[in-house]
Order: sequence, then structure tokens, then C-alpha cells
Amino acid sequence: MQVFTDVERLDFELSQGEVKRAFAKVGNDGECIEISASRHVITAGGIASPYLIHRLSGRKSETPKPFLGGYMDHPKGPIGRLMPTRHIDDLDYMLVSRDDIHVFALPEAELLESGIGNHSVFVWGETRRDQSLRSRICGRWLQLNINCEQFPDPANGISLDDPPEVRWRISSATRRDIDAFLDRILPRISALFGPVKRADWVAMTGASHPAGCTPLSASPLGAELHADGQLPTLANAFCVSSSGFPFAGSANPTLTVVALAERLAQTWYPG
Ligand SMILES: Cc1cc2nc3c(=O)[nH]c(=O)nc-3n(C[C@H](O)[C@H](O)[C@H](O)COP(=O)(O)OP(=O)(O)OC[C@H]3O[C@@H](n4cnc5c(N)ncnc54)[C@H](O)[C@@H]3O)c2cc1C
Repeated sequence: MQVFTDVERLDFELSQGEVKRAFAKVGNDGECIEISASRHVITAGGIASPYLIHRLSGRKSETPKPFLGGYMDHPKGPIGRLMPTRHIDDLDYMLVSRDDIHVFALPEAELLESGIGNHSVFVWGETRRDQSLRSRICGRWLQLNINCEQFPDPANGISLDDPPEVRWRISSATRRDIDAFLDRILPRISALFGPVKRADWVAMTGASHPAGCTPLSASPLGAELHADGQLPTLANAFCVSSSGFPFAGSANPTLTVVALAERLAQTWYPG
């Protein structure tokens, strides 16, 4: 395998529905290297991948300011505070465990029945092993935070300028969904661990987890990709990126991106 670093620019030569060759302009002196491959995989991340896919598709935009909608991130922020009075050991385990991230979430059946997004709540607190368990947790308000699943929204997206620009907001529909989720989850957290004070307003930011705009689909339309990541207009070009997520969930994205890469490799080299 050859790895080229410091690539300034990539150009593709297309012919008869395939990528024939790619040309990489490398480094400051602009040396141009020809790359021949039977298959090409775009892995340019959640923002540049949709832009490259759009360019490769050769699709003409109907609007003067071309834009791909359906961008998602994980809005996150503090939703209230918990005063632990019960099950202190379990809460302590959630706080100090470094190997796993422990969150509160609704059961899958309840999500399907209610249509509420797959949001999660996690506990945030200073964890110092040199303090006794009770002094770390008891009598202290612990901050509760939400990680949200944001549904694809046509107004959230990537402009197809060079360089592409992200337009992102948290819609009132997302806020209503978060409220419905908190109505259900906070009483359960309170019943388990102690009193919860819910914030009047959740101040949210993005989590730098770009996703969406070119979702994988069983029958792709527009900017969508085939279920294995193949570009609809090019038989030997694929994309592995969070831009292919149809939904973003509320968890970190990278493991899923790696799983998509592994799945694609398995289809080419089974076993
Ligand atoms: C601050 C921050 C914190 C994060 N924390 C977490 C976390 O805790 N857990 C988690 O799972 N994820 C986290 N993420 C998300 C994580 O970084 C991404 O999911 C992951 O990097 C995606 O990997 P990728 O290979 O698809 O894309 P990237 O890592 O974005 O790599 C894409 C590469 O393509 C290159 N490129 C782009 N355009 C072109 C082009 N035209 N030609 C050639 N090369 C190009 C880019 O320079 C880049 O090197 C975080 C992201 C940020 C910004």
C-alpha cells in the first residue's frame, strides 16, 4: 500500500460511469501523482465528503447557491442537577469508570412506540479517588447533561462552495422532542438516585460530530448513497464517512465510521 500525505488537491478523471484515474497534487511544489485503482473510497470526513460526492456526481444544482440539507450533530448541554441520596455506589461507578461511558436512555421499545429521539443523559462530576465515596457524591449537586439525537433537517446542511460551509441550528422540533424525553427520563433518574432540579432552559452547543447529508439508502435518491456506500452515479467509487449516517444517534460517531469501513471491506474480501 502507498500512502500519500500532504495532499493539496485531488482530481478525478471519469469515464463511462467509473472513476478511471485520480491525480493527487502533493506538497507545496505541487507534484502531481497519478493514482490508478480498481476502486476509490472517499474518506474525507463528515463535511468534505458530501462536497466531494456532489462534485463527483456531476449533478447540476437547480439553485444559484447549492446546498445539501440533512446535516446532523449532537446538540449537548446541561439539563439540571441531581442530589444523590440513594444507590450511591452505582452512581459512583458511573462517575469513575474510565473504560465505558454510562448513560441513561429510554428502552428501544419505548423509543419506537413514542417516536422520541435516541437521546441520552449522563452524569458529570469531579471524580477524585483520594476523597471518600460519600464526600465525593453525598450532599453535592451533580450536573446532568444531555446528548441529543438530532433528526435530519433540510435547513441544516453544507453549502457546496469551495470550501464548504456548515449551516446548523437547533430547531424548535428538536427542543420539543428533548422536552418529551426529559419528561420521561428525569422522574426515573430521580426515583433511582434522589431529587432532580430540572433546568428551565437547556443551553446547547454542537459536539463537533458532523453527520448526514449523503445518507446510505436501499434505494438512493438525490444525494443519497447506496447501502454499501457506493456513489449512485459511479460504479467504482464509494464513501465511508459519518456523512452516510441516515440518523446520528446520540453517541460518538467514530466507531460506527470504522464499522462501515469494515463492512465495505468484507463485501470485497469476505472473511
Ligand atoms: C473536537 C472534536 C472532538 C471529537 N471527539 C470525538 C470523540 O470523543 N469520539 C468520537 O467517536 N468522535 C469524536 N470526534 C469525531 C471524530 O473526529 C470523527 O468522527 C472522525 O475523525 C471521523 O474520521 P474520518 O476518517 O471519517 O474523517 P476525518 O478524521 O475528518 O479525516 C478526513 C481527512 O480527509 C482529509 N481531506 C478532506 N478533504 C480532502 C480532499 N479534498 N482531498 C484530500 N484529503 C481531504 C482531511 O484533511 C482529513 O485528514 C471529535 C471531533 C472533534 C472535531
